[in-house]
Amino acid sequence: MEMSEWFYQDAYRREFDAPVVECAESRQKQGTFEVVLENTVFYPEGGGQPADQGTLESAEGGAVQVIDVQRRADGSVVHYTDGALPVGRMVHGRIDWARRFDLMQNHSGEHIISGLVHRHYGYENVGYHMGEVITIDLSGPLTWEELMEIEREANGVVYDNRPIEITYPAPEELERIPYRSKKELAGTVRIVTVPGADICACCGTHVARTGEIGIIKCLSMMRYKGGVRIEMASGERALRILERRMDSLTALSREMAVSPDEAEPAFAKIRADSLVKSQKIAERTQMYYAARAAAMPEGAPLASVFEESLDPVETRRLCEFLLEQNRGTVCLAVSGGEDNWYYVIGSRSVDVRPGGRELNQRLNGRGGGKPEMVQGTFHASREEILMAAEEIFG
Ligand SMILES: [Zn+2]
Repeated sequence: MEMSEWFYQDAYRREFDAPVVECAESRQKQGTFEVVLENTVFYPEGGGQPADQGTLESAEGGAVQVIDVQRRADGSVVHYTDGALPVGRMVHGRIDWARRFDLMQNHSGEHIISGLVHRHYGYENVGYHMGEVITIDLSGPLTWEELMEIEREANGVVYDNRPIEITYPAPEELERIPYRSKKELAGTVRIVTVPGADICACCGTHVARTGEIGIIKCLSMMRYKGGVRIEMASGERALRILERRMDSLTALSREMAVSPDEAEPAFAKIRADSLVKSQKIAERTQMYYAARAAAMPEGAPLASVFEESLDPVETRRLCEFLLEQNRGTVCLAVSGGEDNWYYVIGSRSVDVRPGGRELNQRLNGRGGGKPEMVQGTFHASREEILMAAEEIFG
């Protein structure tokens, strides 16, 4: 880490001019060029913070896009670009500021949550990822209520608009500072302090004052490796996520003709009503099966029933019901219409598989099953099915 790097000197700098020191086709990333500049505002991926994006522009060659930025083992910062730039000439660089500021807001928000959890519970942040949302893994368990308490305190730190301080303490001074760190650090250590909330060794970019974070919102929490994994977002990104979720909740509550605040109890009532209806339908269906069975003679060689709109499970239940009521040695339940039928054939005394196979052959069907029950589809007319079934099982 170099203190003289422009992204460290001023996290708010968006544009710069610098000479190209090196430019070569990349061997690591196909189709890109590796560009090194004398100094840069582009932050290289590190400390959990993604790299900046933006453009580099030369008077001779026009603008190229910066796709990625990485720090090499020798410490230099490499810009991966979609075009070459003339070595020795000046280029004008411009970072995607909206993207950078969003990362600064989210990174700073994460510091405050992790710092407060550390203060109150002593847990470490053992995993950190900035993707669509910010994911942090904490080394110990929390309840959602405890996390919400932390979130309230964190937003209080935001309202206070405290300055976020960056320091490079000398080694002997560093020993006395109770800072959080992910690993053993060598060389110059950069300490990021949010007064009253966090002290952490970090190489990322942060906002100057906590008020710029705007809002800190924890979105979810789950148990993870003896601790918890938290998803969170800060700043405008948090606002967009909350907007999206609120739109969804508003649409749902409008469907239920209640206010968003009443959506949860309203949905619970709909679910309870739906359960009662399902039970009623199941009872009625049972009565209907009984009526169908009662209209048929008992103990026939073959009992067949055609229905128009049963699903496979209902068709199977109808067949089982006919067997229970002893309507036929072999019972056939068929549902569907036209030339498209779903069938279930069952018996308590006969192996129905050979007959089922023969019916499949004659009726353009497919399917199979166990000796006591086979199921599948027929593509034939109702009359053809009845006739063939009578011939085989009747
Ligand atoms: Zn940081």
